[in-house]
Amino acid sequence: MQLEDCIFCKIARGEIPCNKVYEDDDVIAFHDIHPQAPIHFLIIPKHHITSLAHATSEDAVLLGKMINLVPTLAKQAGCDNGFRTVINTGHDGGQEVPHLHIHVLGGPRPWK
Ligand code: 5GP
Ligand code: ZN
Repeated sequence: MQLEDCIFCKIARGEIPCNKVYEDDDVIAFHDIHPQAPIHFLIIPKHHITSLAHATSEDAVLLGKMINLVPTLAKQAGCDNGFRTVINTGHDGGQEVPHLHIHVLGGPRPWK
């Protein structure tokens, strides 16, 4: 299920352009529009899940797939020496876009 007005659902539908790094039937990954590191991309499910706190046991395989993709996509994006993986959840978790996403940040330090 997708939401009409959700910005990341719109990206998943191709209605908003993105700098894509990966796509399959379930998942799309694209560079963050405001990168916080030399390499910063997001991995999202194509169907709408509001946050990690809204994921259910039915999403377990999908979540596993997304996590499993991280090292492969990080390497392809140029993270040669490690990376940081972040999932912000809810208001107090600093989540700004209410569609589950994994941040992957890397590239040469120094950065935050
Ligand atoms: P959050 O704070 O929800 O964990 O992270 C949301 C991220 O989405 C932010 O890093 C922000 O820069 C990124 N973002 C928001 N809107 C867009 C967009 O339209 N395109 C892309 N590529 N990134 C976006
Ligand atoms: Zn959505």
